[in-house]
Amino acid sequence: MKRIALDGPAGSGKSTVAKIIAERLGIEYLDTGAMYRAVTLYLMGQEIDLKDNACIEKVLPSIHIDFENGKIFLNHVDVSEEIRMPEVAKNVSIVAAHRIVRVAMVAQQQALASKKSIVMDGRDIGTVVLPDTKYKFFLTASIEERANRRYEEMKAKGMSVDYNQIKAEIATRDDLDTHRTESPLCQAKDAILVDTTGLTIDGVVTQLLGMIQQLSE
Ligand code: C5P
Repeated sequence: MKRIALDGPAGSGKSTVAKIIAERLGIEYLDTGAMYRAVTLYLMGQEIDLKDNACIEKVLPSIHIDFENGKIFLNHVDVSEEIRMPEVAKNVSIVAAHRIVRVAMVAQQQALASKKSIVMDGRDIGTVVLPDTKYKFFLTASIEERANRRYEEMKAKGMSVDYNQIKAEIATRDDLDTHRTESPLCQAKDAILVDTTGLTIDGVVTQLLGMIQQLSE
């Protein structure tokens, strides 16, 4: 079985690349960021204080997340679009910093990975979720490029966006993700660093598929 870990900061191209690699290899893809976003959406919907650990712990068993045909379902409702809302992006790092939330998500992610070959993208895949896999990559890109990619992505969806605001939000999110106590965003010691600045999606995919092939030999 192949378990591929792709970690990196916001906008590094992980999700797009992970999806294509999974397709090319004919294996599953799991967007772990979508899971933290779905939990955030649930808590916001219930008007729960996102810093209230005890309250979050109490409601956590009522949150059920499923994936089907590339869509994410929160308690059987398709929330694939809603989890991409800027308000969710703004709050998700606060929610993802709670140990109890991480324990629940990681258990679900590891259960999925125990049954099949999979590509997972996130922040702690190489360090915590799949520490024993030999396929570990850490994708980065300059903050300007990452902000620009997010800007173009949102603009293409018809959303009204401001480049500087996106850049500031990405920087804040990276800062929270990197400096939290629980499973901070960091490159696993044995992960291969791939700087995607100036590279096309196709370029990154080709590079990664080549390295995956090499690692399999
Ligand atoms: O990948 P995406 O940008 O959708 O992730 C949203 C947020 O979820 C991240 O900023 C981070 O706070 C959290 N996350 C995490 N661990 C993961 C994946 C995402 O903490 N494995």
